[in-house]
Amino acid sequence: MKKALIILALLFPFLSTAQNKIDEIFKDQGEVFFSFELQDLSQLESYNQIISLDHNMELPTIYAYANKKQFADFLDRDIDFKILPKPGDRINAKMITKAEWEALKSIDCNHSWDAYPTYDLYETLMEEFAMNYPDICVLEEIGTLPSGRKLLTLKITDNVNIEEAEPKFFYTSSMHGDETAGYILLLRYIEYLLCNYGSDAHLTELVNEIEIWINPLANPDGTYTNNDNTVNGATRSNANFIDLNRNYPDPEAGPNPDGESTQPETAASIAFHESHHFDMSCNMHGGAEVVNYPWDTWAVQCADHHWWEHVSNEYADTCQANSPNDYFDDFGTGVTNGYEWYSINGGRQDYVCFFEHGREMTLELSDQKLLDENELLEHWEYNFPSLINYMEQSLFGVRGIVTDSLTTEPLVAEVFISGHDVDNSQVYSRLPHGNYHRYLKEDSYDLTFSADGYISKTIRVYIVENAIQYVDVQLAKVLEVDVNKIVSSSLLSIFPNPTQSILHFSMQTNGAQKMGIQLFDIVGRVVMQKEFLCDQAILNGQLDLSKLQSGTYIVELSNSESSVYRKISVY
Ligand SMILES: [Zn+2]
Repeated sequence: MKKALIILALLFPFLSTAQNKIDEIFKDQGEVFFSFELQDLSQLESYNQIISLDHNMELPTIYAYANKKQFADFLDRDIDFKILPKPGDRINAKMITKAEWEALKSIDCNHSWDAYPTYDLYETLMEEFAMNYPDICVLEEIGTLPSGRKLLTLKITDNVNIEEAEPKFFYTSSMHGDETAGYILLLRYIEYLLCNYGSDAHLTELVNEIEIWINPLANPDGTYTNNDNTVNGATRSNANFIDLNRNYPDPEAGPNPDGESTQPETAASIAFHESHHFDMSCNMHGGAEVVNYPWDTWAVQCADHHWWEHVSNEYADTCQANSPNDYFDDFGTGVTNGYEWYSINGGRQDYVCFFEHGREMTLELSDQKLLDENELLEHWEYNFPSLINYMEQSLFGVRGIVTDSLTTEPLVAEVFISGHDVDNSQVYSRLPHGNYHRYLKEDSYDLTFSADGYISKTIRVYIVENAIQYVDVQLAKVLEVDVNKIVSSSLLSIFPNPTQSILHFSMQTNGAQKMGIQLFDIVGRVVMQKEFLCDQAILNGQLDLSKLQSGTYIVELSNSESSVYRKISVY
């Protein structure tokens, strides 16, 4: 007992010192930015579990963010660290207010985009885009946060109020609230699309042919941490000091991989994805200058690794051609596989690719996170041709409509490539049109289309780079024949059997009614269908089978209550 008291007495000052230290650090902030040195990089993964590693590493120096709870876990590791100024800690970011913007009305479509809007102006801009271009632009609220700030997205396309059989494409930015370049670039991108619609032929075609969705600000509480009128002090995390890019379900680590509850931003984003099923998307960040393609969570290559290299290099090469030598050159090429850079769990990119069967890349736009206002102009020039190219890629590859062979009703079908698809890389056609969009590197592929209750169909497709290949597919229903009925029914007589051309049939009925006759081939595809009106107790009719290939067929005669079947041969 005495011994235990002595140990406690000895420990207590240390415990209270550590707690005091944490209380002091988090006195005025909910998130801290710091660095530490790691000699054994194999431990990186274990740190990844407790704090939010930043990708801006200068090994062996590691940079990271943590909230109070995470930082306490970090201190348990007993490793030296240095608290640093936060990347979002600026004192004089140039802001533009609603009133100042209103005064610029005369230069609509020609704004300079060299300042950060106040939060109120941001909401106004999004509303005005939709109001000023109602034929091609509508505003949809993804969700409202407990703070009252909104997650807003614009849908931009022709026939904007109806769903067409087009690829769905999504740009989103700044889920890390202090990584702001993409926020302004996307506002400007929206204006660029809307203002040039009808005059720029290429842009007009893209708007007409793609269903474009844009969410410039995915974490408004992080960007406007201090108040609605400034981005000074922007945080990486949301209002609960949770890193949203560690908060998604993970292919490897499962749901809530960060041990935190699903945040309102994450929940709203997941619901948004589940209702729209985007074919391609891009999530914008800052702190580096590189395209990061899947996977982030594990070392395996994704099925469409070569396609990812193609579109990523196209982005980076175009970007480098439009910028000075030292821009967008991380990893030399401006392109990296996520896991090869550093592994994360709970990221948005892997969630979209694995759980939503989408194609999402992570785009790091600027080494400086809260980018200087005057650099916003240059970064637009560097990036907008690449942003258009990447969006245009959503048109390419193989696409088409999957329908029921008989009724032409659109179907939800799986599009799977045997020997190629792995880790949920297959895609699905969707209603109301049954359209599918599959992006593939130039080569030939066997696409298997399958849907519940239908016979699967495999089609060889030749893909040409940056081109569209249309393949519409009709699937035939599987025939569910009760074999007993084929042999037992004596109500139906058919002759001659086998037949070469005319098939006569005669069937006892319960009086006047409508009768249907269908002919199926041996794998269940409907090859002929006819209706007869029967006005007496016996139905007599005939079918001309002279156009059918020789083989075995099944005849089904049915009324509203029952069916009888008979096997016939055509020669
Ligand atoms: Zn980020």
